[in-house]
Amino acid sequence: MKKLAEKLYTHGDLSDEELVRLIETDDPSAAQALVTYADAVRRVHYGDKVFLRGLIEISSYCRNDCLYCGIRRSNLTAERYRLTPDEILDCCGIGYELGFRTFVLQGGEDMSFTDDVTVPLIAEIRRRYPDCAITLSLGERSRESYRLMKEAGADRYLLRHEAASHELYSRLHPDKMTLESRKRCLYDLRELGYQTGAGFMVGAPFQTTEHIIADLRFMQELRPHMIGIGPFVPHHCTPFADMKGGTLGLTLRLLGIIRLMFPKVLLPATTALGTIAPNGRELGLKTGCNVVMPNLSPSAVRKKYDLYDNKLSVGAEAAEGLEALRRQISAAGYTAVSERGDCVI
Ligand code: SAH
Repeated sequence: MKKLAEKLYTHGDLSDEELVRLIETDDPSAAQALVTYADAVRRVHYGDKVFLRGLIEISSYCRNDCLYCGIRRSNLTAERYRLTPDEILDCCGIGYELGFRTFVLQGGEDMSFTDDVTVPLIAEIRRRYPDCAITLSLGERSRESYRLMKEAGADRYLLRHEAASHELYSRLHPDKMTLESRKRCLYDLRELGYQTGAGFMVGAPFQTTEHIIADLRFMQELRPHMIGIGPFVPHHCTPFADMKGGTLGLTLRLLGIIRLMFPKVLLPATTALGTIAPNGRELGLKTGCNVVMPNLSPSAVRKKYDLYDNKLSVGAEAAEGLEALRRQISAAGYTAVSERGDCVI
């Protein structure tokens, strides 16, 4: 099995049958080989750098009803909030002082964030912080909206494709949401010049190894600059409350495989990975991850952006815990840097 990891390292790809074996293996020497090769490849392109992104969760209102997500519209127990443009600008100010040079504005699909709201906000962040990257993660919008926000100064957009198989996509989402629409958004974003991020949850309900291979093949076609993957973690107020969550082992194997298939991609060690294991994030960094996104939202609202149970938002996960996070990153053998951290593709 070690041989397959080595082959992926030297060729950057494997056949579907080989990928199945590598994804499903429980051979510890394969996991170790993936760590070794993934780390070597990330060091070639990014050295020991870990880029920090200040994550600002701008709204927990959402028009969508994704079956896995704690802020889905049907979850009437979810507490809703939305930040004002001034509150968002304050978060950027705090983040800038802490050393962040990328701000990520993420939220549910809150219809009150029309272009009339987002465009002046993005332009103001751009004006105040010309040396920072602005990343958006606001879900599916029209090509025209994406274009206006890009023109206002946004640089990057994160929109996980969630599942590249129609069959799985439709089991995770209500009928109104389609894979075609998700893909259309991703191709629009790419064409408009955004550094674009795709991705999926590991161990989502009903997900098979074949579905994961479809995700990898789709991303080979899209060629995203960023790939976000993290374990599925059940939320108690969703239809998937009693489903099993994604495992640490599978998530780490996939991170290693992704680093080898997409050598230059920006790959975060996600909050969900840190949530399922105390050392999850460090293990992610050692398996090819080169991005961490601490929470920069005002502490009063943090608990309300409740995507899944026990979501981390304090300690090294929070922007105020940045020193602790920097130490964790150093202890893992890397250096947290205050840079925009653009993709080298
Ligand atoms: N509205 C935005 C942001 C969604 S939240 C959008 O549509 O892109 C960001 C990501 O959290 C989602 O893409 C999803 O993959 C992940 N997520 C949602 N619920 C989750 C859960 N229960 N476990 C793990 N990750 C989850």
